[in-house]
Amino acid sequence: APALYVVATPLGNLADLSPRARAVLAGVDCIAAEDTRHSQRLLDAWGIRTPMLSAHEHNEQAAAQAIVARLSRGEHVALISDAGTPGICDPGARIVAAVRAAGFAAVPVPGPSAVIAALSVAGFVEPGFRFIGFLPPKQAARRKLLASLAAEEVPVACYEAPHRVRESVADMLEVLGGTRELFLARELTKRFEETVRLPLAQMPAWLEERPERTRGEFVLILGPGEAQAAREDEGRRVLARLTQAGVP
Ligand code: SAM
Repeated sequence: APALYVVATPLGNLADLSPRARAVLAGVDCIAAEDTRHSQRLLDAWGIRTPMLSAHEHNEQAAAQAIVARLSRGEHVALISDAGTPGICDPGARIVAAVRAAGFAAVPVPGPSAVIAALSVAGFVEPGFRFIGFLPPKQAARRKLLASLAAEEVPVACYEAPHRVRESVADMLEVLGGTRELFLARELTKRFEETVRLPLAQMPAWLEERPERTRGEFVLILGPGEAQAAREDEGRRVLARLTQAGVP
């Protein structure tokens, strides 16, 4: 049966295209791509000659209709974004919704996603995390959001543009304090990949140490708030008291 294959593509290192993703991209009738010129490089690198159609933020609804029409004709279609997993801070969700509403299957072909790649090397031990997408570009909204994370119990991951990394880190420091930890990953899977985990107090100096440290693509992950540790301590105290009182 015809289906929409939602295919994750490399974040930088072209070898991160999975064998299954490659086979699907080569085998479908058409690839809907966020930026066809950008994606042409990936297809060329892997010798894939499937025709592309453009499906970006600004034509997503029309693209969705075009894709549904193709599926109705019995074609198989793949969806890719510029990098990583479509639909994760990328166009795709509207297309998937339209495809489902028309009664066709949306099949994931999983692979790279910057947020997951960053979390995998951040070393936070909490069993969950929160992902908030891009931080708000305006300072007031950003600070308000950051303030709401003061007592967050799990790590909070976000994407940030290079020209705002300094400002955002400065806001984090001011709103959340210098002891809160921040993990920063830049240029994942690329030549100048760099990752670091520091208390917020030390992060501005780290960023200024080399000019390239504020360039490229970034994932930021805030460690959980102090409230978490405080709650755990309180839990242990209560438990100790109950145990002393002979409650099993
Ligand atoms: N859909 C993508 C995914 O699954 O990772 C994310 C798309 S979003 C428009 C692009 C943002 O992802 C960048 O601004 C950056 O924050 C992050 N990103 C993408 N590639 C990255 C990389 N190689 N290293 C670090 N962050 C990256």
